[in-house]
Amino acid sequence: MHPMTPEEKAILVSIGSARIDSALLAPTLKTTATAGPGAGGSSFFIRSGDRRVRLSINDFSPLSIEPAADGIVVLRKGEVVASGQIEPALCHCPEQAYITISERCIFDCRFCPVPKLQGGVKDVETVLAMVEEAAGRGSLRAISLTSGVADSPGQEVERVISVIQALRERYALPIGVSVYPTLTSSAELFAAGADEIKYNVETMDPDIFVRVCPGLSLDAILAALEGAVHIFGKNAVFSNFIIGLGESDACVHEGITLLAAMGVIPVLRPISVSPLRAGEITIERPSADRLLRLARMTRRILEEHGLDTRRARTMCLPCTGCDITPFRDV
Ligand code: SF4
Repeated sequence: MHPMTPEEKAILVSIGSARIDSALLAPTLKTTATAGPGAGGSSFFIRSGDRRVRLSINDFSPLSIEPAADGIVVLRKGEVVASGQIEPALCHCPEQAYITISERCIFDCRFCPVPKLQGGVKDVETVLAMVEEAAGRGSLRAISLTSGVADSPGQEVERVISVIQALRERYALPIGVSVYPTLTSSAELFAAGADEIKYNVETMDPDIFVRVCPGLSLDAILAALEGAVHIFGKNAVFSNFIIGLGESDACVHEGITLLAAMGVIPVLRPISVSPLRAGEITIERPSADRLLRLARMTRRILEEHGLDTRRARTMCLPCTGCDITPFRDV
C-alpha cells in the first residue's frame, strides 16, 4: 500500500463521492455536513500518507470502497485508484470542531442547499457542548465556526461573537470563523478572540457572481477581505473560490492573483451538485487535470506573494479534505 499521490487524490476529489458498505463505517467515521454545497449529505474521510480526502456517500458513484489487509482500497471499474485508511472525524472533519451555527440563510446562492434546508440556529450552550464532546475524543487542534445568515449579516456576526467569547473563556485553541462580512465584522471578531477569518468570494467572475449569488456584493466581500488582512495579518485570511461554475482558467488566474496581492489565500473548491438545486444552476465539476493545474498555479502565485497555506491553523486549509491544497498536496 503506497501513500496517495497528488494525481490519485485529484481523481478522488474530481469525483467527490464513493459507494461504501455501511459495515465499514462506525458512527464516528461518518459525518453529515450542515453548511456549504455539501450540506445535508453524509461523507467520510480517507487518510493516506500525508494526504486526506473527503468523499460523500453515494450509491451511484463510479468509485467504491473495499476493505484491504491494512485499510481500504478505492476501486474504479474494478481497478485500484488509491488506498489508505478511513479516518475518524471529530465534529464535521478530523482534528477540528467545525460547527455551523445558523443552518439557515436569508440569501439564496444558487449552488447552496442551506437556504432550502432552513435548519436550526444553535445557541452558545449547544456549541460549547459540541466542542466539549470533540475535545473529549482527543486530537482536537482547532475550532472552526461558520454560519448562514439567519436574520441579517450584522445579527449573525453578533451571534458568532457571543460564541467566540464563550469558547475563549474555556479553550486556548485557534479559532477560525467564516461568515458573511459587515463593515465592522473583522475588527469585532478579532477583538472577540478569532484568530483566522474566511469571507467567501465564491467566484471571481463578476458576471457569474451576479447570477449565482443574487443579493450579495462581490465588491463588498473583496473590500472586507482587504480590511481583514490589516487586522488578522497575512496567512490568516481566506476565501472560498468555487471551481466549476463556468469560469475560465484565465479568470481563476486573475482572481487568485488579485486575492494573493491583497494577502488573502484562496481555497479552490470543486463545485458539488446538490439534489436540492437540480435545474437551478449549470455546473461542471472540474477534472483531475484541471484541479492539479489550478492548484499548482495557485501555489506559484501564493509563493510570489509570500503566502503559505501551511501557516493556516483552522478551517479548510489544514483539513484539505475537499480540495487539492497548494503546498500540502502539490
Ligand atoms: S476541506 Fe473544509 S469543507 Fe472540506 S471537510 Fe475539510 S473543513 Fe470541511
